Amino acid sequence: MAEAVSHRFGGRSSVSAYDLDFLVNYLVEQSLAADAEELAADAFAFGDEFPEGDRLFLGGYEQVFRDRFSQFDIRTGQRVAKVRQVGAEVVLETQNETHVTDRVVITIPLGVLKTRDVQFDPPLPDDQRAAIGQLGMGCLNKLYLRFDHVFWPEDVEGFLYRSPVPGQWSLWLNQAFYTGQPILLAFNAGGFGREIERRLDADVVDEAMAVVRMMMGSQAPDPIAHQITRWNSDPFSRGSYSFIAPGVTTGTIQTLARPVNNRLFFAGEATATDFPSTVHGAYLSGRRVAEQISQDQISRW
Ligand SMILES: Cc1cc2nc3c(=O)[nH]c(=O)nc-3n(C[C@H](O)[C@H](O)[C@H](O)COP(=O)(O)OP(=O)(O)OC[C@H]3O[C@@H](n4cnc5c(N)ncnc54)[C@H](O)[C@@H]3O)c2cc1C
Repeated sequence: MAEAVSHRFGGRSSVSAYDLDFLVNYLVEQSLAADAEELAADAFAFGDEFPEGDRLFLGGYEQVFRDRFSQFDIRTGQRVAKVRQVGAEVVLETQNETHVTDRVVITIPLGVLKTRDVQFDPPLPDDQRAAIGQLGMGCLNKLYLRFDHVFWPEDVEGFLYRSPVPGQWSLWLNQAFYTGQPILLAFNAGGFGREIERRLDADVVDEAMAVVRMMMGSQAPDPIAHQITRWNSDPFSRGSYSFIAPGVTTGTIQTLARPVNNRLFFAGEATATDFPSTVHGAYLSGRRVAEQISQDQISRW
């Protein structure tokens, strides 16, 4: 992607190198959760955008599914360590339980599949493992700062900060605009997003507050609370969502999503050829797998 941008604009544009980097970060890197150097030139060509605007689920996504799934036996806190195919059965080993079934739907994130924290016995087919290696797992981290009152313009959705290095604390959302709460939200993506995961909370907040004071004035008060994500270090995620790395094609995603022996079925955002990297992509991939399993059941009858 970086090469494609510099080829398109290099030396022929009135846009400064800084502005170009800033725009690429804002329009591409913050959205695809990766540095331009990590992305395929056509990364944006994968999947459409939903025609409607964004929605914020105050209270979390759980409320969407809570009623619908109340009749199922859902067990949380079960870390799957091994997926074994034994004859016609699949044996799932968690840290303290074993579950035997005839089919499983695997939705663990691509980042976790890359680490091989979950062992497959027998191993997944070579081309499926190659697809897991080839697809990128991105990083987009958030820092929420809560204040005791709003001291910034309330009527705008967010702020762009022309930081010395484009993309470092450049993108801020005004949560008061959406929720009425005195909260600012900063995003950091790609390499810088990964870098700040290694810093202490207090240092991250100090760094962010220096930027807030640069934008809003030195009188800005200290936050009364904060929340920091570290998606890359999270052992249940190992990144925020997948991205299209150079060489990835729709076929790569289809290979990742291909069922194994009609026993293992794969869903989740990284397996979605429509709307990858999103909640709706993950949801639609679940519907695809449900369809695959019911077709398989019909054909066995
Ligand atoms: C900062 C950020 C902003 C985003 N913004 C948007 C947005 O605006 N719009 C949008 O549509 N999407 C957005 N996304 C992407 C969206 O959140 C994901 O695409 C979506 O959650 C993926 O769903 P999933 O079911 O594939 O994976 P996940 O939601 O990651 O679910 C995977 C589950 O597997 C579990 N798991 C992992 N390892 C194991 C194991 N060994 N055993 C058992 N369970 C395991 C995890 O705990 C997790 O519950 C954003 C993501 C981030 C991080």
